[in-house]
Amino acid sequence: PISSVRMLAEALCDGVVSDPDKQQVYYGLILQESAAQYRMVQEILELSRLQSRNMDFTRTAVDAEALLRPVLESYALLCDCTDVALEVDGSVYALPTLWTNAACVRQIMEILLDNAVKFVPAGGTVRVSAAVSGRTATLCVRDNGAGIAPEDLPHIFERFYRCARGDAQNGGSGLGLAIARETARGLGERIWAESEPGRGCAFYFTLRVR
Ligand code: ADP
Repeated sequence: PISSVRMLAEALCDGVVSDPDKQQVYYGLILQESAAQYRMVQEILELSRLQSRNMDFTRTAVDAEALLRPVLESYALLCDCTDVALEVDGSVYALPTLWTNAACVRQIMEILLDNAVKFVPAGGTVRVSAAVSGRTATLCVRDNGAGIAPEDLPHIFERFYRCARGDAQNGGSGLGLAIARETARGLGERIWAESEPGRGCAFYFTLRVR
C-alpha cells in the first residue's frame, strides 16, 4: 500500500490529475490504502507482541454468554449491512463457565467472524455453534462461501499466507489467522480449519471449561 499511496499522492501533487471527480477518486484510494496499511502495521505489532511472549494470557472464570453475546451482536449488525445471515446456535449461550482469557477469546472470534463475513458472498450464511466434551468446549464459525482449496488449507495459519483465488482483492494482509493461532497457542488451546471447496469452511477452536 505504501507505493500506491505515494504514486496517487504524487499524481495529485504534480497536477497530473486536474479533473475534480478524478481527484476525489484518488483521495478515496489514498484513504482506503492508508487504512489497509494502518491495519497491517497493527497486525504486525500484535503478532510481534504475541511472539515476544510479552502477552498476558492470564486465565480467569469467564461467563461465555457475557463474553460472546456483545461480539456476536456487533457482527449481526455488520451482517445486516452486507446481506449475510448470521445464525447463532443456542449451544453458544448454553456454554458452561470457561477458564480462559476473555480478551484473547474475543480477538480470535473477531478474526474468524471478520473472515467469514469477508469471504461469504451476499446472501450467504455464517453460523456460530459450540460443543462441549468433558472439560473442553469447542467453538465453531462456519460459512457457506467458496471455501478453501485442499492445497491451501495446511498453510492458512502461516504469516502473510493468502489463498490464490482472487483474494488479493480482499484488502487483508494474511496475518489474521497467524494472530489467531498464536493467541490460541498462548492460551494452550487448539485452532484448526476444515473446508469443502465450493461449500464453505468451518473454523474451530477449543476452550477449557472451568
Ligand atoms: P486475511 O487478512 O487475508 O483475511 P487471514 O490470515 O485471516 O488473512 O486468512 C488467510 C487466508 O485464508 C485468506 O486470505 C483467505 O484466502 C483464507 N480464508 C480465511 N478465512 C476464510 C474463509 N472463511 N473462507 C474462505 N477463505 C478464507
